[in-house]
Amino acid sequence: MRRTTAVLALVVLVALAGCGGLGSDAAGPGAAGAPSPSIESVSAPESLGHDERGTVEATVRWEGLAADGDGSESGDGSEEDGSAGEGGSNATLDPVRITVRVGDRTLRDENRSVPANGSMTVTAGVDAATLDPGEYEIGVTVGEASATRRIAIEEARAATFAVSEIETPEEVAYGEDLTVAATVTNVGDLAGNQTVGIRYGNGGTANRTVALDGGAETRLSVTFADVRLDGGSHPVVVATANRTRERSVTLTHPSPYGKTTLRLHVDDDAVDRNVSGVVAAATGYWERTDERYLGYPVAYERVSDEDRADIVLRFDRVERCGVEDGDARYFGCADLLEDEPRTPMTATVEPNISDAEMNATIIHELGHVQGLEHGEEPADLMAPTSNLTTHRPVTVHLRAESGDVPRRVEDEVAEALDYFASRDIVGDDDFRWEFVDGAREAHVQVTYDDRGDVCFADGGGSCTVDGEYYGQEDVRLEELDDEVVAWHVGASFAPVLLEEVPPELTGEADRREREEWPA
Ligand SMILES: [Zn+2]
Repeated sequence: MRRTTAVLALVVLVALAGCGGLGSDAAGPGAAGAPSPSIESVSAPESLGHDERGTVEATVRWEGLAADGDGSESGDGSEEDGSAGEGGSNATLDPVRITVRVGDRTLRDENRSVPANGSMTVTAGVDAATLDPGEYEIGVTVGEASATRRIAIEEARAATFAVSEIETPEEVAYGEDLTVAATVTNVGDLAGNQTVGIRYGNGGTANRTVALDGGAETRLSVTFADVRLDGGSHPVVVATANRTRERSVTLTHPSPYGKTTLRLHVDDDAVDRNVSGVVAAATGYWERTDERYLGYPVAYERVSDEDRADIVLRFDRVERCGVEDGDARYFGCADLLEDEPRTPMTATVEPNISDAEMNATIIHELGHVQGLEHGEEPADLMAPTSNLTTHRPVTVHLRAESGDVPRRVEDEVAEALDYFASRDIVGDDDFRWEFVDGAREAHVQVTYDDRGDVCFADGGGSCTVDGEYYGQEDVRLEELDDEVVAWHVGASFAPVLLEEVPPELTGEADRREREEWPA
């Protein structure tokens, strides 16, 4: 547009030079009957943006002047762009006054000679940047002829930020980084600042502030490190105050459950005590060792609504569990996760076992629910049976049938247990043990009875009977001299803990050997 204006200026100079008549009377035709101009058309944009430029163009014709010359009269070959027919001027007519205005602003005001062919194009540039927003009248006057048009100058639009072209991968794996790129454009006219929020699912939001001139755009890129959402499709949302755009990215989760947080419903109606702490310790075990033993992340959330549960932990007597094993006593039974979890997966745990056994049993049954089979790591906890070789440490509750346990007896029991702690025991693992204050925390009980009538009617000795809790054993020491307490404890534990019972711990050992054991 600027170029057109420049050419027009040149045209004017040429025209003025051609006629040499500045300051002529603009009142139009002097003599009656002389040809008068008429404005055949005016073209102008209906509106302009606040900083746009436009062109007003009017076609003027003098009736009665020859219009048949198809430019041949111009002769000198100087063809001025946009001003056809001005090649030659009509010497018999006075120059004509031309004005073009918008509102009260004059865009053009000059005298021009009337072209010989009676046809003239008048142009003028309109620069909206020089005008306030609003409606204006465009007026074109050529001699006595005039014509008008309306033009609107628009307000500058405030800065407005649009989002386009979000670029992401189709998929992201759990724990990987996700990079999101997007183009933000200021589709307004005025410069402005904007905070752009970029979010993936319910994970964190990254904010970036951009400063953009009107019409300018910029490319933003954000990397979400170590994405840890549930599996499935999550939206990537890029939002400005004005516009929001999103696309989805599928997260692939390594858990067969397709997510990290498993909803656990616990039905503990059948337990006569509060076992929430025991359950929490067991779920906490898996939350700490998930990546190591399961290869996928796990977190447990207790839910009261069984219908919402992924896993139901029920306390109930387990009479049978898969293949029957004679008169085995079951501490628990659970669904084994193979490919996809059932809804819900169920684990059942005997309600009357000690807290110590319950902790190990819940860990074991949740292991199945999480896809572990017997013999898999952690091998002690996933062993098919629970016994003194599978607990670390083995917790021992030492008590007296009446009164306190004599110090000498306690020392003898500790000596016997320490003997095993220094030996290779079944499973090639170290044996560790500790005393606890009650049967509830114990894997095994040791009861000292200075009279004794459970094992033997009289005469004394040791035997193993059922303890306070289901499946718990109680090693009874009845009417024993202090010196042989260690031997009786050793002889009771040895068949379970050692591959082979040494001769000195068999019933063949004589009194002297028993007193001296462990040497
Ligand atoms: Zn099992």
